[in-house]
Amino acid sequence: MEIKFSGHRALVTGAGKGIGRDTVKALVGAGAEVVAVSRSSEDLESLVKECPGVQTICVDLADWSATDTALSSIGPVDLLVNNAGVAILQPLLAVTEEAFDRSFAVNVKAALHVSQIVVRQMIDRGVSGAIVNVSSQASQCAIRDHSVYCATKGALDMLTKMMALELGPKKIRVNSVNPTVVMTDMGRIGWSDPKKAETLLNRIPLGRFAEVEDVVQSILFLLSDKSSMINGSCLPVDGGFLAC
Ligand code: NDP
Repeated sequence: MEIKFSGHRALVTGAGKGIGRDTVKALVGAGAEVVAVSRSSEDLESLVKECPGVQTICVDLADWSATDTALSSIGPVDLLVNNAGVAILQPLLAVTEEAFDRSFAVNVKAALHVSQIVVRQMIDRGVSGAIVNVSSQASQCAIRDHSVYCATKGALDMLTKMMALELGPKKIRVNSVNPTVVMTDMGRIGWSDPKKAETLLNRIPLGRFAEVEDVVQSILFLLSDKSSMINGSCLPVDGGFLAC
């Protein structure tokens, strides 16, 4: 199944590292023009060296007004990947207000806000579009020390469904991918300890964590016309973890 995005323009958040970075590269490889949004300028500079032609925007998406300013002249966008996310791990009784606010600001508020900016101009242009929110298996399953992270991803799944409900009539589809652990910088924070990793691996029927490529291919599928009747779904990319 070959997926092509020639003639389409995509915006990917959290594009500096991990899943977002490889999503940008895959979209470019499939012929899309890409706007890469992230927080660290050095990541964006190295991304442009790898993928000349990618437009970059450096902004902290937790900041609502800075996001408005930074994305004010993004131009037409047909495909959006809300991927930027943080995982601040704390036991329930140690959760701080700062960690709570930061987590919801990046993982939920920014996804809503960037979608508003992109969707308004999709509607003005009268075009169809597709949005993928990068959620997690943690949206549907309690994981030790992940209270706030789980809560943000649960909220993101519900936001995905609401966006699908309200934007479907405008021919804009919205879905999420819900991966298990992926050994990016974020994955390593929580799961580098082999003993801890084993407890989770034992609950994944396929017996392995996800590769970045597993997630990227699922994102591309949900952005593409191959999934033209899929709207409001939260697709596990978890080797069967959530099925058990
Ligand atoms: P990484 O930490 O490897 O990369 C996250 C990227 O998002 C970085 O480039 C980071 O920039 C950027 N980012 C974070 N906060 C902001 C912000 N406020 N504004 C702009 N950019 C920001 O994470 P992953 O690639 O692993 O994760 C990507 C998504 O996948 C996240 O939503 C995560 O929750 C989800 N996910 C990850 C899993 C995993 O095990 N890795 C499992 C399930 C879901 P910087 O480094 O400069 O802050």
